[in-house]
Amino acid sequence: MTSYTELGLVNTKELFKKAVSGGYAIPAYNFNNLEQIQAIIQACVETKSPVVLQVSAGARKYANQNILKNMARGAVEYARELGYDIPIALHLDHGNSFELCKDCIESGFSSVMIDGSHLPYDENVELTRKVCEFAHSQKDYVTVEGELGVLAGVEDDVSAEHSDYTKPEEVMDFVSKTKVDSLAISIGTSHGRTKFKPEQCTRDANGVLIPPPLRFDILEEIEKKIPGFPIVLHGASSVPMEYVRMIEQFGGHLKDSVGIPEEQLRRAAKSAVCKINIDSDGRLAMTALIRKVLAEDPEEFDPRKLIGPARDELKKLYMHKNLNVLGSAGQA
Ligand SMILES: [Zn+2]
Repeated sequence: MTSYTELGLVNTKELFKKAVSGGYAIPAYNFNNLEQIQAIIQACVETKSPVVLQVSAGARKYANQNILKNMARGAVEYARELGYDIPIALHLDHGNSFELCKDCIESGFSSVMIDGSHLPYDENVELTRKVCEFAHSQKDYVTVEGELGVLAGVEDDVSAEHSDYTKPEEVMDFVSKTKVDSLAISIGTSHGRTKFKPEQCTRDANGVLIPPPLRFDILEEIEKKIPGFPIVLHGASSVPMEYVRMIEQFGGHLKDSVGIPEEQLRRAAKSAVCKINIDSDGRLAMTALIRKVLAEDPEEFDPRKLIGPARDELKKLYMHKNLNVLGSAGQA
């Protein structure tokens, strides 16, 4: 059994409190390999941003929980070595059972998400309450994220055909019964790189898909019901067209890609939204650069030369997010 404090990690309590009052959002970046964690830490140290390192159940299967835990420990030491001790949380993304959350908590995660959003309301309350009870009773308080409302799209093991917006009238009851520390809501974000079907969008003069706007009216109503309570947005990648085009230029096919415009995320970050999850954008950046290198240098076979440029691009992308979208730069 390992407590996250032994790894040099923090839970999300203070991070979120400051983010809500400061009008910015903490980046939550997913990782499952070396280059991703290097890019995240380099970007967050250079921009002096706190960060949530996220591990999905799929990443845990891919990389092994022990390796991931020690990568998080390494990330803390790496940040210090780079000269700035940023607060780092290690968070389970979309935990789907009490056992998975317990397992992660006992192996050094500082925060977990229990996603009961697909369950009937009362079962979601019961499952979330049970995880909170366990997480909060640890020697070092582990924070818990719950979810109300369902996001459309596909992300590792999580998928839903249609989105189901969060009902503002349920949030107060959910938060007080479960004692969750933060709440993921559904206001129109979506998992994956095709966040909307073309028929849900309009097109600009160049035929690029313009998505429907986020439901800020629902967000405002939720904020009125639970003032100052930390809100989380999942599925908040912007799906930059420069990467989509680069991938297609070098042989990929990513038809009908569409994300959430960055201006809308910037607006959300200024509200009680204090954690914004970004995964697909990082996948696109890495794939774009890997495809480019493979296409332009067919003789290259050193994996470092193939993945290194992808890592550097990922760092650039995350610095941009911290500085210009989330507003978390300078807040560590
Ligand atoms: Zn998610």
